[in-house]
Amino acid sequence: MSKIDIDGLSFSYVQGRDRVEALTDIDLHVEAGECICLLGPSGCGKSTLLSILMGINRDFTGQIRIDGKLIDGPGPERAVVFQHYSLFPWLTARKNVMFGIRQSGRRITKAESIRLADEYLAKVGLRGSENKYPSQMSGGMQQRVAIARALALEADILLMDEPFGAIDPKLRSELQELVSTLSKEHERTVIFVTHDTDEAILIADRIVVMEPRRIRAVEKVTIPRPRKKDALVRTEEYLRLSKRLMSLFYERVADEIGNEEVVI
Ligand code: ADP
Ligand code: MG
Repeated sequence: MSKIDIDGLSFSYVQGRDRVEALTDIDLHVEAGECICLLGPSGCGKSTLLSILMGINRDFTGQIRIDGKLIDGPGPERAVVFQHYSLFPWLTARKNVMFGIRQSGRRITKAESIRLADEYLAKVGLRGSENKYPSQMSGGMQQRVAIARALALEADILLMDEPFGAIDPKLRSELQELVSTLSKEHERTVIFVTHDTDEAILIADRIVVMEPRRIRAVEKVTIPRPRKKDALVRTEEYLRLSKRLMSLFYERVADEIGNEEVVI
């Protein structure tokens, strides 16, 4: 038994008179404290797989177990960050985070909730913005509030769908390092969706490379976590992996011309 066991997961949706497969027979076993990146081209089913793990998409076949128990909808052991930030416009940054904490059902005092909210807002670089409303913040700042809200739940499992898309590159690498550090220090299990190979190598213990509907390959990253981007890009393993990941995207083309790998 792993922390998350996905067995024979398939998902299809109805389009007009047809039923279209979006995921076919996915098997994946994720250990506690492991950080998995789902990497793949747009439209291959990454968000669909994550929404099923979140418990908001229940129309699947196969089995998903967390700590051995079949999932049945969302649960407090899973915190999520969506691709598009989703804050309450009438609540300040601090209150958005506190709302998340309250929703998770944790019994803590209001003072403790404020302390936690401010601590996680500071971790994502938003000290001083606690009392701002979403309309007073940039897209990147709002997404950081959404990330703080998910982290403040201190849930075992963190599910993130391309969370750093709207954030500028410098801050993005700081947040990537933060997720990697927190998941390591607190033994959080992370499933992180991205289409950015560098992001995957920076964060993941294993990179699950997807092709439409399926898992194409699983690549291990053995460089100790948390990783620093500057040091990482100078390692042999980084160079090998980025070449390998790129070639996986182009493998079909390579097969056709009879090469094992595309040299890039
Ligand atoms: P990704 O996140 O990898 O970009 P998605 O999981 O969002 O991909 O989508 C995978 C494919 O399945 C897309 O072609 C998407 O349009 C389609 N899809 C998934 N679920 C539905 C649905 N409920 N209705 C219509 N299309 C869907
Ligand atoms: Mg997506």
